[in-house]
Amino acid sequence: MSEVRLQVKNLCKSFGITKAVQNVSFNVNKGEVHALIGENGSGKSTLTNMLTGIYSIGSGTFILDGKEIHPKNQVEANNEGVSIIVQELGTLSGLTVAENIFLGHEEQFVHFGIKNTKAMNRKATELLKKYGFDRIKASDIIDNYNFEDRKLVEIVKATYFDPKIVVVDETTTALSQEGRDELYKHMDRIRNSGNSVIFISHDLPEVLEKSDTITILRDGIYIDTVKSADVTEDDLKRLMVGREVTGDYYRADYGEKVSDEVVLSVKNVTVPGIISDISFDLHKGEMLGFGGLSESGMHEVGKAIFGASYDREGTVTLADGTQINDIPTAIKHSIAYTSKDRDNESVVMNQSIGDNICLPSLDELSNKAHFISDKKKKKFANKYAKQMSVKMVNTDQFVSDLSGGNKQKVVLARWIGKDSDIIVLDSPTRGIDIKVKQDIYQLMNQMRKEGKSIIMISEELMELIGMCDRIIIMKDGKINGELERNQDLNENSLITMMV
Ligand code: ADP
Ligand code: MG
Repeated sequence: MSEVRLQVKNLCKSFGITKAVQNVSFNVNKGEVHALIGENGSGKSTLTNMLTGIYSIGSGTFILDGKEIHPKNQVEANNEGVSIIVQELGTLSGLTVAENIFLGHEEQFVHFGIKNTKAMNRKATELLKKYGFDRIKASDIIDNYNFEDRKLVEIVKATYFDPKIVVVDETTTALSQEGRDELYKHMDRIRNSGNSVIFISHDLPEVLEKSDTITILRDGIYIDTVKSADVTEDDLKRLMVGREVTGDYYRADYGEKVSDEVVLSVKNVTVPGIISDISFDLHKGEMLGFGGLSESGMHEVGKAIFGASYDREGTVTLADGTQINDIPTAIKHSIAYTSKDRDNESVVMNQSIGDNICLPSLDELSNKAHFISDKKKKKFANKYAKQMSVKMVNTDQFVSDLSGGNKQKVVLARWIGKDSDIIVLDSPTRGIDIKVKQDIYQLMNQMRKEGKSIIMISEELMELIGMCDRIIIMKDGKINGELERNQDLNENSLITMMV
């Protein structure tokens, strides 16, 4: 019998009328990777945030190695032997890599009241080297690094002191395969040393492969705890959703001819150091995919089309000859864009759902005197939030309170409200559970049928294969190949062009 490390007992937490976690109890054993799964909004982050001192405990108890703990912040949690790699960006801007790693634990480098920055940097450099992240420099400001590298710094920050429990909250969705492999390595290391990982992920094959035990939550309620070896992906889906989920959620059609009409033409687009000489046409009603490794430059292509790249050369031209060089022109000409980095670039976190949905449509919503009635705004926001089934109390709720999948729905609701003709979606289903994914795929397919043109940039090869009429593969900032929609395409056909 394995020994219990953590007992979760009758845990509850509400936010206003939302019962985020309702009387949840389960055990995490020593030396196991314990997955926590459930649809968006099922309470996974709320539960682990209480364990790690980010949220206060509503009621109930956490018992770690026989002792009740109630950390008031992350530093206290660390001192109890618990740490977390959060779903959102978990490093602080303006600080160095080393300062981020040792945040709240600087005392070890203070002697006679003076902080020994050199010693801190030296220790951080040692750790980064040990983890194999040498390319990240301890003394650099964290802002010099992209989302993925910042996640790697978080891995070091959360695990270097050998905590008893490390929570990994949807970290893998933000990582490329290489980053994932790094994380898996450290998860294995933690498990093999007798410590435990609480692993939150929407990627069910990954959950089955990497975890020993799985606990399922649904709408804040505990459903079951199962051994990974005893269940299939379909079992898990059923437990999560509470009903059968049909496996087929991509497009089912093949051989449909895409219109010859060009709606957007990209010519010789270069962003120094990131992409070079990118040219392609987007057709009416076409779903065009971009695939590649996360550093291939494909994410920049989306920005460039939306007029959001700095120092861009080359041209982005619409059918009527309009040149897109900046974001206002892009929005005015019916181009929509959702960023991969949803929390920092796509939603305004400290604004309401309603404000976020109305943002690009304010011109249309105002009268001749540029006055916008609140009633009109509310109606508009409500209509599109409902259409996307955003899980919320009302549209006055702040976006920062929503789960990842619901944030993404708000972003999409905004552009559906705007009725854009060209829609650039960067990683639209990143970190989103199967049911919401299915909604998004259906929505994309419907928009395509209405004659809208969609560009989908994605690191998930299966969704590119399943959804796109054509897939452009990027490598080292350049276009490295192109594939037509075809029943015989598989992940390997893409990977060989990517690496
Ligand atoms: P998951 O991580 O499983 O996607 P969450 O724990 O983030 O789900 O959310 C559970 C529920 O609690 C959701 O309905 C969400 O909107 C709500 N919620 C989470 N955090 C907050 C918060 N800080 N304020 C208000 N509501 C919140
Ligand atoms: Mg979450």
